Amino acid sequence: SNHLSLLPAWDDAEGVRRASELFLATYGGRPDGVWAAPGRVNLIGEHLDYNGGFSLPFALPHRTFVALARRDDEFVRLVSDLGAGEPWTGSLDDLGPGRAAGWIAYAGGPAWVLRDEGLPVGGFDAAIASCVPLGAGLSSSAALETAVALALDELFHDGTLGADDAGRTRLAAACVRAENEVAGAATGGMDQAAALRTTAGHALLIDSHDASVRQVPLDLDAAGLAVLVIDTRAPHALADGQYASRRAACERAAARLAVPTLCAVADPEAALARLDDPEEVRRARHVFTEQERVRRVIDLVSASRLSEIGPDLDGSHASLAGDYEVSCRELDVAVSAARDAGARGARMTGGGFGGSAIALVERGAESRVADAVASAFAEHGFTPPAFLVARASAPGGRVA
Ligand code: ADP
Ligand code: MG
Repeated sequence: SNHLSLLPAWDDAEGVRRASELFLATYGGRPDGVWAAPGRVNLIGEHLDYNGGFSLPFALPHRTFVALARRDDEFVRLVSDLGAGEPWTGSLDDLGPGRAAGWIAYAGGPAWVLRDEGLPVGGFDAAIASCVPLGAGLSSSAALETAVALALDELFHDGTLGADDAGRTRLAAACVRAENEVAGAATGGMDQAAALRTTAGHALLIDSHDASVRQVPLDLDAAGLAVLVIDTRAPHALADGQYASRRAACERAAARLAVPTLCAVADPEAALARLDDPEEVRRARHVFTEQERVRRVIDLVSASRLSEIGPDLDGSHASLAGDYEVSCRELDVAVSAARDAGARGARMTGGGFGGSAIALVERGAESRVADAVASAFAEHGFTPPAFLVARASAPGGRVA
């Protein structure tokens, strides 16, 4: 058997200690406070955000911590526990589109956007420590952006935006702008909404048709269940072009059907019969069936029948692999090995071509299922996967 560990989530005390120690070692002195924001997984509703449909993410217990202090000038210094040594140093202007690159765009971009939107943001020093795996499809990027945005709102703007959902919606939108315009990553708003607008013990139903959200109680413990997250650590080199081509096929299909987005179609059967391009048929079929699966999962979860969502998780994976063609060998092996080891259901989560999968398992079976997946990866000669256990956790906020 493999020696595997489930990646632990830091509690407030540990995250505060790590970020504050990095702050002290880098800048000397103490921060004005420490803020934290979570990564997320999407339970179901994949590739629906740009099709006017649902997604159902929930916040992970794994968070990014930011120790931050105001400065009296326009300078910004940024350090992360990922890159040791000297902090990045620049001005607020250096954090704008076309100027900030790499991780600085994610850490500093929100400051530039908030100031661009008229908030009185000045210079600051920040130290970042995180237990969210990077680039695993678990949204380390939004965890970082939103933790910084919450800190700046509180220190420069009396916490006006962080205080209620309307304000958090604005902060989330600013972080989306930072990711799109500064980091140059074409992502939707699911990750930032999950980090800022969820409540503990709930998944966040996001309806991208009208950008509305609803809290859906998700009590895995009460159902005797757990969600095991499998980070395949598969490289996903082709992902960008593939994402654009899926989006384009959906837009072509919607145009042919004379609807603004595919999820606006009233009669999916009739719509599929009217499409004749086989690629558009497959892509549209995923969208239609996935939207149905999300509806079913919401009904089951709302009726305290969480243990019955397994077939919809399996159906989601089959549809993403077959009709949408965004899975990969590592994701397929992860979900089938998890099911063989007794998972109630499993699916890739996130955009695909690598990243992570989730498996719904009985409480107490997490390590056994993880072990089985790790063995299957070893047999296939894949990079060893990483694991963590997800429970519906709290949104971002101040922790010290
Ligand atoms: P994901 O959001 O799924 O983890 P992304 O590619 O969207 O993957 O974001 C990962 C990027 O976010 C990293 O490459 C890095 O630039 C930045 N990032 C996230 N967390 C941190 C961190 N703790 N320290 C520095 N940079 C980070
Ligand atoms: Mg991301």
